[in-house]
Amino acid sequence: MSDCIFCKIAAGDIPSATIYEDDDFRVILDLGPAAKGHALILPKEHYANITEMPDELLGKAMVLAKKVVTYMMKALPCDGYNVVQNNGEAAGQTVFHFHIHLIPRYKNDGVGVTWKPGELTDAWKQEIMEKTKGLRGE
Ligand code: 5GP
Ligand code: ZN
Repeated sequence: MSDCIFCKIAAGDIPSATIYEDDDFRVILDLGPAAKGHALILPKEHYANITEMPDELLGKAMVLAKKVVTYMMKALPCDGYNVVQNNGEAAGQTVFHFHIHLIPRYKNDGVGVTWKPGELTDAWKQEIMEKTKGLRGE
C-alpha cells in the first residue's frame, strides 16, 4: 500500500528504531510508548487487521511476540508484558496495517492497559452462546 506508513517503515523506506528483523517482520520501537521498551511487530506485507492476516503469518507473529517478550523481560529488565492487538477504530486502531503491541510493564508503573470489569449477565451469556453456535459447528 503506497500511502501506508507502516508499509514504508516495514520496508525500511522510513527509518525506525528496529530491534529485530527477519524476512516476514520488522519489530520497531513505538514513537509514542506506553512504557519504556514499547515495541510493535509489523509484517512486511500489508494486511489491515487480524481478519486479513494469513493463518501461517499470524502464527509466526505470535511466535515472534513470544521470542521478543522472552528476550526483553531479561534485557530491559521488566516485570511483565501486555501483548495487545487493536482491530478497528472502535477498538483503538489508528494505523490500519496489522501490528502487535509489545508493552513492557514495571511494578506500579500506572500504565493503563486495562478496563473496568462488568458482569456476565444471563442475558448476555444466552445471547452469545446462541450466536456462537456456528463457531462450534452446532
Ligand atoms: P494502534 O493505535 O493502531 O493500535 O497503534 C498505532 C501505534 O503506532 C501507536 O502506539 C503509535 O504511537 C505508533 N505509531 C504511529 N506512527 C508511528 C511511526 O511513524 N513510527 C513509530 N515507530 N510508531 C508509530
Ligand atoms: Zn501497510
